[in-house]
Amino acid sequence: MIILDGKKLAQDLKTELKSEILELKNKGIVPGLSVIIVGNDSASEIYVGNKEKACKEIGIYSEVHGLEEKISEEELLMLIDKLNADEKIHGILVQLPLPSHINEDKIILAIDPKKDVDCFHPENIGRVFLDNLRFLPCTPAGIMEILKKYEIEIVGKNVVIVGRSNIVGKPLALMMINESATVTSCNSKTKNLKDECLKADILISAVGKTGLITADMVKQGAVVIDVGMNRNEEGKLLGDVDFAKVSKISSAITPVPGGVGPMTIAMLLKNTIKAVKIYANRS
Ligand code: NAP
Repeated sequence: MIILDGKKLAQDLKTELKSEILELKNKGIVPGLSVIIVGNDSASEIYVGNKEKACKEIGIYSEVHGLEEKISEEELLMLIDKLNADEKIHGILVQLPLPSHINEDKIILAIDPKKDVDCFHPENIGRVFLDNLRFLPCTPAGIMEILKKYEIEIVGKNVVIVGRSNIVGKPLALMMINESATVTSCNSKTKNLKDECLKADILISAVGKTGLITADMVKQGAVVIDVGMNRNEEGKLLGDVDFAKVSKISSAITPVPGGVGPMTIAMLLKNTIKAVKIYANRS
């Protein structure tokens, strides 16, 4: 059984990106990422902090706009307009969720699609659908990269994805279809989750429920990717998969922490460098 070491892969990728950034800096270009966070959600604050740290580590200029919970939609839209026009900012990321008085769809639509490094804008998601990519959604891209680096075949494989969110499950299903997998998408209404999961050569859980995927749901030798990030009462980070038991059945498995999480951040950095190239080639 192989532990799919996302932490190490992310570190390798960051080293590669660091040298690309040095080349850009030699040409006088410093990649810039702007992160907007509204309110004081503690999980969001941790994610934003990790992103900022990763930017610093490889030489991306990053700025965080921490806005008060009560900021109006108009004020937020004005800030996005300003950042869209800011030449030193190549990527813009709005940390979700936003407070309920702000329409998330409207905010995402306001981001220049060429600066949309989270790949949430409908234009960029449409490109994923058409397999005509600009950016890749970070978490699904991180999963694809793990499979690629460990030379895990996707073509013709039964891929079962539990969870259909717009940021993980759904775009991942599209990307797997584009890679010629046979894809099953499961959700909270799926009739017999265990039967569906047992068909998987590659099983991916992106739900957010500790212990959802138990050993009896996994086929012998399957590859298991755990996207879940759940905190228990002691604050310990756990995935959706019963790692101790499932790892005895699977041929390869991602740990939590140290699996998909670090790759998500590495993919955000990769998208930011891609945005610099898009900016340089603009007409
Ligand atoms: P989300 O928007 O809440 O979506 C959860 C999905 O799980 C929904 O599609 C839901 O189905 C489905 N679901 C819920 N209960 C289910 C059940 N019993 N059986 C089958 N499906 C069920 O969550 P998300 O944003 O995709 O995140 C999912 C998890 O991944 C969370 O733990 C999150 O923290 C983590 N995450 C990790 C990373 C990373 O970098 N590692 C990145 C993003 C998210 P319905 O659609 O029917 O409601």
